[in-house]
Amino acid sequence: MKIRWNPFLPGAYLCALAAFSCLLCSSGAAQAQRLPANVVPSHYALSFTPDLQAATFAGSETIDINIKQPTNAITLNAIEIKFQSVEIRDSNGLAQSGAVSLDSQKQQATLTFAQTVAAGSATLRIQFTGILNNELRGFYLSKTARRNYAVTQFESTDARRAFPCFDEPAMKATFDISLTIDRGDTAISNSAVASDTPGPGADKHTVKFAPTPKMSTYLVAFVVGDFQCTRGEQDGVALRVCATPGKLALTSYALGVAKFALHYYDNYFGIHFPLKKLDFIGIPDFEAGAMENFGAITFRETDLLLDPKTASFAAKRNATLAIVHEMAHQWFGDLVTMQWWDNIWLNEGFATWMETKCTDAMHPEWNIPQFVAADEQQTLDIDALPTTRAIRAEADTPEEIDQMFDPIAYGKAGAVLLMVENYLGKETFRQGVHAYLTAHEYGNATAEDFWNAQTAVSHKPVDKIMDSLVEQPGEPILDFGVPAAGHVSVTQSRFFLSPSIQPDPAQKWTLPICFKTAGVGKSCELLTPSSTSLTTPADSLFFANAGGTGYYRSAYAPAQYKALVAQVETGLTPSERISLAGDEWAQVRANKATVGDYLNLVAALKADPNADVLSSATGNVGTIADRVAATRQERDALDAWVRSTFGPQYAKLSPPQAGDSPNAVELRAELFALLGNHGDPKVLAQAQSLAARYLADPTSVNPTLAQAALGIAAFHGDAALFDKLQNLYETSNDPDVKEQALRDLVLFTNPALLDRALNYAASGKVRNQDAAIELAIGLAVPENRDQTWNFIKTHWPAVQAQFTTEMGAMVVGSTGSFCSAEARDDVRNFFASHPVAASDASLRHAIERINGCIELRSLQEPNLKKWLDAQSK
Ligand SMILES: [Zn+2]
Repeated sequence: MKIRWNPFLPGAYLCALAAFSCLLCSSGAAQAQRLPANVVPSHYALSFTPDLQAATFAGSETIDINIKQPTNAITLNAIEIKFQSVEIRDSNGLAQSGAVSLDSQKQQATLTFAQTVAAGSATLRIQFTGILNNELRGFYLSKTARRNYAVTQFESTDARRAFPCFDEPAMKATFDISLTIDRGDTAISNSAVASDTPGPGADKHTVKFAPTPKMSTYLVAFVVGDFQCTRGEQDGVALRVCATPGKLALTSYALGVAKFALHYYDNYFGIHFPLKKLDFIGIPDFEAGAMENFGAITFRETDLLLDPKTASFAAKRNATLAIVHEMAHQWFGDLVTMQWWDNIWLNEGFATWMETKCTDAMHPEWNIPQFVAADEQQTLDIDALPTTRAIRAEADTPEEIDQMFDPIAYGKAGAVLLMVENYLGKETFRQGVHAYLTAHEYGNATAEDFWNAQTAVSHKPVDKIMDSLVEQPGEPILDFGVPAAGHVSVTQSRFFLSPSIQPDPAQKWTLPICFKTAGVGKSCELLTPSSTSLTTPADSLFFANAGGTGYYRSAYAPAQYKALVAQVETGLTPSERISLAGDEWAQVRANKATVGDYLNLVAALKADPNADVLSSATGNVGTIADRVAATRQERDALDAWVRSTFGPQYAKLSPPQAGDSPNAVELRAELFALLGNHGDPKVLAQAQSLAARYLADPTSVNPTLAQAALGIAAFHGDAALFDKLQNLYETSNDPDVKEQALRDLVLFTNPALLDRALNYAASGKVRNQDAAIELAIGLAVPENRDQTWNFIKTHWPAVQAQFTTEMGAMVVGSTGSFCSAEARDDVRNFFASHPVAASDASLRHAIERINGCIELRSLQEPNLKKWLDAQSK
């Protein structure tokens, strides 16, 4: 699954949207939600007849099971399902019907039989009915202006909303799926269509799909509607990209990505794609970004469908990463699946790491390693909060399992795998992946299986490294002494952003530390819990995170840091510059450096030719303006400094041209947005004129620059611009264009227009998948924060009606953007009396962020004032 927690906001706001896990939930009672081990399914024959008008479905299933001990009761998972009849035939040929008792709290049904069912193979037949819900999970209804669709989303624990099943990842089985649907409609499922026959009845037809391979229930998928597809083929696999009508022109980009990635993965994994076909389906209503159902990947439309002529670079990169992320899961997750949800990080960390590796191979000109380095800074900041969790944590209830899909499972786990690959070498690591997948194909495995395979292949202590990173919460900071005579002293401790938290001195890691060298690039040493010094290369410049791929913070002695700043543009690669800036920002947060030190480093990077370096370093300037500056004068002075520092850099860029590299396009847009956001009047005028040109003819302006211009224009915009953007959202057929326009509505700072945007978000006219994101953006934009929060409080019933589970928690988490004790208490009190489902962890995290901001401001605001005064002199 690809979660969408951050694509809408500047990096500094990312953590506002990250849901955080509950680690304190008692596992004793939760453990009871696991199914008994006495019954193991091997095959399901499933038939569904959905009624898209009534939003209901009828289903029947036959499950082949193996019973270990004779029993009178069988427990499986079901919720929102009405059982019509239950029958079992056991290994002695005894057939009998059963009674059903439901436990909605455990989401289980227990089937009881008057006569004891014998051990051995048995067949369970169940007739049932259910609802096509509007919760974006289970078997659910998605709508367009024209019609209804019936679609599925089962990860993590929602297959049980569509059919009674043994809904645990290790209970793998094969599936025969059959759908009886309206004449004229099509159906897509995991396997290819085996037969399509008229009836029953004159206006129906029945589509039967070929048997699936052995797989987990959460990977089953089926969709019904009038989807239209573009077809292709790669390495003997039939590929289709499908969407609701009118969007075929937006499917060819994804098909090209899929063809590249299928071939790339066939080679990388050394295992041919295990199915005959692979479909990619854009769903109008979809909570996550995308879902890796075996052979039938489903997507939020923006993550699949785009027009390469008018899509921004960020939109293309986002869709490409999502597509290849889900394709990586076909092997790593679908073919080999985690034994239980506590190891979901291995799935998601692997796909997060692999999506960037595959995209980098497809588009070396996109500078993906820098993008990864910048992303890692965000993850390190989140992991330096006391509420972070260990990568592997217990999760037993559906609510606990859902909360495992967080930046730790994705970003941190991905960063750990990147570090290990960097240490072992690409080919050795690949062989470890191949060995792991081959040993467990069509089965389940644990994290130990993975790192033991890597340890066996590499003969290096991968088990110790991964164990120390996976089982312990938080991240290390390495304090380096002055390197001398080929050695450097080092002490490691857990790093917290807040200076008031003291780390436990017993917490230590085993880590590969790679020093930068002029010749071969890097020299890696293993740091163990007892290490006090490491061998260093004989190099004039001392940098302890070569390539920026190590998952740790570094702190240098003053002379070494000074030398790094002096040579930042000549001595370090772009990824290393991003890493250095991130480390320095962490030092500011920990009160070991001042905001002035950080801004001096930003000034040293002002002419950086790399867009990712610039955006990563200047993202924290926005944070300083929002969370450190306490007065209008300070913000004005900081704005003036940004304009005088970066204005000349922007002026030096040559005019945009058709053949500009993605970096050139991004760099221009970054500088443009930076100056526009810090009040440059010339850029504002340009933004208004570019926005007008774009709205008149979207092909007339570079799309990446156009998006930056629209944001700035909206910020200062009037009702006429608001109307145009709202109209674009309502009339465009391009999901990417729609989403951008909707996002811009909530950037208007004119209070009457912001009020219109907020009312619109809560009106029911905006899809549930988007409405909460609007509110989250409103809370993230400093100028719109108070009004958005007041709106949420005063329109609570309408606001809450827009929430799906994940989206409600996102809004709660976004209140962490406040920075005062009054606002903190207000947030806490409001949600105490207006509870939001599955959001306790998000609320704790938000409160922690507010407290962190109060502390940061009190420590650093005097430093900012002093530094700004010095600049003006
Ligand atoms: Zn995923």
